[in-house]
Amino acid sequence: MLEAQNLSGGYPGKTVIQNASLSLAKGELIAILGLNGSGKSTLLKILAGLLPKEQGTLLLDKKPLSEYEPKLLGRCIAYHGQRHEIPDMNTRTLLAHSRYPYQGFVRRLDERDHKAIEQATKRMQLQDVLDTPLKHLSGGYQQRSFLAMTLAREADYLLFDEPDAHLDISQVYMVHQLLQDLASEGHCVVASLHDLSEALRIASRIILIDQQTVAFDGNPQEAVACGILEETFGVVINRYDRFYRFSLR
Ligand code: ADP
Repeated sequence: MLEAQNLSGGYPGKTVIQNASLSLAKGELIAILGLNGSGKSTLLKILAGLLPKEQGTLLLDKKPLSEYEPKLLGRCIAYHGQRHEIPDMNTRTLLAHSRYPYQGFVRRLDERDHKAIEQATKRMQLQDVLDTPLKHLSGGYQQRSFLAMTLAREADYLLFDEPDAHLDISQVYMVHQLLQDLASEGHCVVASLHDLSEALRIASRIILIDQQTVAFDGNPQEAVACGILEETFGVVINRYDRFYRFSLR
């Protein structure tokens, strides 16, 4: 269980998240929603241990995150961030990097590393592009390579920051199916998503960030029924079978 109590954090001189409390369990697919700039990415980075918290408690399996040895934490929590730069390497090397938390002083891949990389490669269908420089790949292949990197980590807690950004529609659905599958397989999957309709369709739980904190935490039906999404995003929500449609107020 990844648990935050009265968590605050952000950047030097700028507190973005204040007094946020939540607990995230394996087997859940939790969509983090909120307006642009509300603090979704910042929250994910704090939860992943990549940004230090300012106040509150942050526990992984009852132990403070700060007490974990970094490599051990890296084996428990994998963070898939938004990409602004594409590194100068091919997918094969990128995937090898994902196994860093499992390696000792001599950074050599062992059998388990190779197996994890092979499975992630197959799952993201990257067999044909492993040796192509990432910079030569299409945006879709690049995103799939980074997703594979996250999967190859074999972490229980998978935190995705807009994993469906800049993808063609078929790939968006592929990623959403992947998130659902990973949760069914027992991972705790947390994803910040822009597409509210898809978030409501695929997530088992919705966490809404507004006014710097957790404004709503519950299942998708409750999120719609209580009106907080309509209020926050300034839309009207109609439900058609399993799907939700949004229109302007
Ligand atoms: P979201 O993911 O919901 O769009 P972010 O977490 O990216 O929101 O941003 C929340 C706030 O933190 C915004 O006001 C943004 O400008 C600010 N912010 C984001 N990154 C940094 C940074 N590296 N340094 C200072 N402020 C930042």
